[in-house]
Amino acid sequence: MSSPIYQTYARYGIAPEKGEGAWLETTDGRRFLDFGAGIAVNALGHAHPHLVEALTNQAGKLWHTSNLYQVPGQVSLAQRLVDNTFADLAFFTNSGAEALECAIKTARRYHYVSGHPERFRLITFEGAFHGRTLATIAAGGKEQYLEGFGPKTEGFDQVPLGDLEAVKAAITPETAGILIEPVQGEGGVRTVEPAFLRQLRKLCDERGLLLIYDEVQCGVGRTGHLFAHDVVNAEPDIMAIAKGIGGGFPLGACLATTEAASGMTKGTHGTTYGGNPLAMAVGNAVLDVVLQEDFLPHVRAMGLKLRQTLAGIIDSHSDVLEELRGEGLMLGLKCKVPNTELAAACLEEGLLVVGAGENVVRLLPPLIITETEIAEAASRLDKACARLEAEHLEEQTS
Ligand SMILES: *Cc1c(COP(=O)(O)O)cnc(C)c1O
Repeated sequence: MSSPIYQTYARYGIAPEKGEGAWLETTDGRRFLDFGAGIAVNALGHAHPHLVEALTNQAGKLWHTSNLYQVPGQVSLAQRLVDNTFADLAFFTNSGAEALECAIKTARRYHYVSGHPERFRLITFEGAFHGRTLATIAAGGKEQYLEGFGPKTEGFDQVPLGDLEAVKAAITPETAGILIEPVQGEGGVRTVEPAFLRQLRKLCDERGLLLIYDEVQCGVGRTGHLFAHDVVNAEPDIMAIAKGIGGGFPLGACLATTEAASGMTKGTHGTTYGGNPLAMAVGNAVLDVVLQEDFLPHVRAMGLKLRQTLAGIIDSHSDVLEELRGEGLMLGLKCKVPNTELAAACLEEGLLVVGAGENVVRLLPPLIITETEIAEAASRLDKACARLEAEHLEEQTS
């Protein structure tokens, strides 16, 4: 069957048509429990009434004007992000990769205007994922994403995750900063030790480097805290966010301190769509909910519940699963069978999950998930594991 779409994705056969909360319904009428949440994007689930209202209200007023004019929604959303983070300033984008591009440019310009134009390189980490633009595939360093796309963009030096000596050894007079995900998502739900982030902060302070966090996946409540680094006592100078902040509307942001953003003066950067009124209405609506007093405690409680439930499933299916990773509602199951097989078996049982590096299956439910839905997901995962065990047993005996 030929399709008019680029064949860059190996897609599952299902076609979701509508959703409500943690549930998706496909065009053929099947219902799926969505523990992928559009890869950690649908933070408030599908068709959340407050987001639907915000978007449709705005849609009747004004969609787009460009950044040639004032956009009041940008000011309010930026102010709320600033009030709740280390940052003083925000730049809005349409995606995570664009937020990272802005972060990289911000770091380079900081040194440029500080009289060190030679400092343009960033140290990044093995297993990282920062997006699919030419600069962000270079930052991520994954060979599969770089192959065939011409010379790798200059300026990224990769070291093993958690290896402070390797970071120190990689610093040269050209180093501008360090870029890290506090919890690696695509890399396999690898939580970075808080002590390591504190060591990086100290190192950056000593060497005049900028610390950049990529919280595109782990931010906006995903780990049970507004940002994953909120509990590690090591603040960045610059941070990229996206995914959850738009709840499904394309929205990202680069946040920075006034000092770190000192090079981003008039005319140095721009975007046509970034921060448009529709995106700002939705971003503000997401924060209305996420900043409610009982929201993050709910995420933590559900994270704990899911973690306990999964521990039991690992125990009873030790031929399929070997390890639980992650924080809050950003959890990963390291598999003993190919993770693609487990994801396919889950789909058969009506549970959507997402693969990741290191043979991990990610569980990223909407943050509004309930205990009943967690129990339902667990029962479906249990059946998926049992199905795989039966299949593998059959292979062995035939
Ligand atoms: C998804 C992701 C990105 C890229 O975001 P896009 O919106 O796909 O460009 C960057 N960094 C991390 C950690 C991500 O998970």
